[in-house]
Amino acid sequence: MSESLLKITGGYVYDPANGLDGQVHDIWIQDGKVIEPPTDPQIRPSHNLDAAGLVVMPGGIDMHCHIAGPKVNVARKMRPEEKRVAEPIRRTDITHSGTMGSVPSTFATGYKYAGLGYTTAFDAAVPPLSARHAHEEFADTPCLDKGFYVLMGNNHYVMKAIQENEPERLKAFVGWLLGAAKGYATKLVNPGGVEVWKQQQAGNVNRIDQVVDFFDVTPRQIIREMSRTVDELCLPHSVHIHANNLGLPGNWETTLETMKALEGHRGHITHIQFHSYGGGEGDETTFCSRVEPLAEYVNAHPNITVDVGQVLFGETTSMTGDGPLGYFLQNIYGTKWFSSDTEMESGCGIAPIKYRNKSMVHALQWAIGLEWYLMVDDPWRVVMSTDHPNGGSFLAYPQIIRLLMDRTYRQDVIKTVHPAVRQHSQLADLDREYTMNEIAIITRAGPARILGLTHKGHLGPGADADVTIYTPHENQQVMFELPRYVIKSGRILVEQGDIREDFQGKTLHVAPDYARDIETNISEWFEQYYSVRFRNYPVDYHYLPFAEQVPCNLREPD
Ligand SMILES: [Zn+2]
Repeated sequence: MSESLLKITGGYVYDPANGLDGQVHDIWIQDGKVIEPPTDPQIRPSHNLDAAGLVVMPGGIDMHCHIAGPKVNVARKMRPEEKRVAEPIRRTDITHSGTMGSVPSTFATGYKYAGLGYTTAFDAAVPPLSARHAHEEFADTPCLDKGFYVLMGNNHYVMKAIQENEPERLKAFVGWLLGAAKGYATKLVNPGGVEVWKQQQAGNVNRIDQVVDFFDVTPRQIIREMSRTVDELCLPHSVHIHANNLGLPGNWETTLETMKALEGHRGHITHIQFHSYGGGEGDETTFCSRVEPLAEYVNAHPNITVDVGQVLFGETTSMTGDGPLGYFLQNIYGTKWFSSDTEMESGCGIAPIKYRNKSMVHALQWAIGLEWYLMVDDPWRVVMSTDHPNGGSFLAYPQIIRLLMDRTYRQDVIKTVHPAVRQHSQLADLDREYTMNEIAIITRAGPARILGLTHKGHLGPGADADVTIYTPHENQQVMFELPRYVIKSGRILVEQGDIREDFQGKTLHVAPDYARDIETNISEWFEQYYSVRFRNYPVDYHYLPFAEQVPCNLREPD
């Protein structure tokens, strides 16, 4: 018998990256990794987990959510009314206490993700100036491996380098900034638009070719130059783009132009549901889905990937690095809101929101999200997300899975929502049903591939031993809501919803090579404009107790 050798025996394994589509297959695990089955029959596992009759998948990966950083913290403080009514997480001998609501506390976030079978999550928008605090929050977010994307689409240095047509300086700066923040990927949020918001009362950009004052650059230039830079740095994940005009009727044309602005470079368009609207401003009755032309474009362009940003009905909190969007939502809903600018770098807006199934706009947003899953041909290029908590909580993922796998259920729900869904979207006519394998792709194998995480999202030898085991059920929502076992880094972390161990996951980050002589120039930039010193800005490893550096060696697909 070998020490700490775990065998998962007899489960139906869905591991699309390795061609397993529900075949019965054993998985051997040692030192937190999946290993080749031992050839010596004398070798016995120290622990045998009987998975006969159960469904085995790699651990889930949420590639776009909001779980750390300054705006998440403000949102937690902004919603005391939710904390009063939501059932809290009680402290046990193993776990900390935590609060729920649409923006759970750090500990609750880790436990709830793990309870759902998710083992990795990425916060999608951290201003690099706040990176240190985001890492401190990660240290308090148990169970998960995690990382974050660094906001760059309105960074003054980035825009200056583009304005001055200095691609090498831009590349060196992006490489330095990612390394300094210990971030995982680059993020653009309403490129150029947040800067205009900071310059002018209620300002924004409304076209991709609108010039940003004082910087003389357009959103299109920012998107093109950043996507090229990211590819030249060989970063594992492409540039991650929240396009301009989020939420506005008629914004689908901006989204299409955003895809074209990539000029063939890799690009991930996030929460694309919020960017797929037809109709004219000021006349709500014209609001409609424009998923079809956008999905056609995505289908024909393998350099582009998307996550959906599904809307679910109910109450949540909208939080975004898109400062003007917070203002826009507050104007519509008249609720409390919060807005904040980060010097030189970014902004943010927060507002409570309630999606109603009888609202024409909300029902269409719900339908448009589902259309995206059903109209992208290749499941490897569309990822499940609610943009947690913007479209709804990550806890709604099992509900989305049922809507995708069960068209009878889907049709039943369509009957209960605003009738505009049948008139202004194609959802009711879409017959496609996701298979179990396709669900495994859009929730783990696909996001791992899109993020360039070669050791995640699959169960082949060398993979991280992050495994979720489900009890089959004819109602897929029931099946996915309560995994039988969740295994993280080879340890059985969750059993039938109970956390068995307070496990601390890794922080995934990149440290790209860059031309070091840029630092003199950046140092002068800090002296001139920032309220912090250059030497105090980079985050050191002290803040990442379990850091894992992911290599920057990914080439563009030929
Ligand atoms: Zn987001």
